Amino acid sequence: MEKFGITFDHITEYLHLIRRERTGILAEKEKIWRASGLPIAEPEVGDLIEIICTLKQPKRILEIGTCVGFSSLLMSQTVPDAEIITIERNPVMIKDAKVNLEQFDKRKKITMLEGDAGKILKDLNGSFDLVFLDAAKGQYPTYLPEIKRLLVSGGVFISDNVLFNGYVAKGTPDRHRNKTIVVRLDEYLKMLEADTDFKTVLLPISDGVTLSIKK
Ligand code: SAH
Ligand code: MG
Repeated sequence: MEKFGITFDHITEYLHLIRRERTGILAEKEKIWRASGLPIAEPEVGDLIEIICTLKQPKRILEIGTCVGFSSLLMSQTVPDAEIITIERNPVMIKDAKVNLEQFDKRKKITMLEGDAGKILKDLNGSFDLVFLDAAKGQYPTYLPEIKRLLVSGGVFISDNVLFNGYVAKGTPDRHRNKTIVVRLDEYLKMLEADTDFKTVLLPISDGVTLSIKK
């Protein structure tokens, strides 16, 4: 059974079959974290992040949703000079992320802001060349104006899990409690698409990823 229900099973299987795995200590940890069920970026979303970081060479990155620090560390490994701010509110994740940042982020390029992203984003100033949104799917529409404010002109914006197991396109959730998320993500995708200050492409890889550039 396909994990996200976005593409055909045989396509996803093939992509995973031919895909070259990341190597190194972080990649070893990545496998362990994913196997333990943590919601870290899927392998191919990691690949996309690496490619965008290499192309863009961002000096300042904002991430919403640290989890245990995987995607932050992957970005940092790809652009070692980048300053990264990452937001997380779950105390359990914060504790683990601190351990991982201690191990991998020797140059202390990554700063974790602890608390609710909605509140932190409102108070946040400065400008970012790359924003990776990967938390609180039901809040994406409210985060968008803040992200837009914080993103430089020419900045790149990536948002993850936007198709939410395919239910956004189907228009109905699997369970009642996911109804709000599905409705909000649909609203979010239409907002982002309609915003002429952005050029956006919705990639049906993994759980659905948007890639946008702010004009
Ligand atoms: N970007 C990470 C995965 C993030 S998973 C990676 O790829 O490695 C999403 C994370 O967002 C979870 O750890 C969850 O606790 C956090 N989160 C959810 N809602 C949040 C909120 N409102 N504010 C801050 N963090 C939030
Ligand atoms: Mg995600």
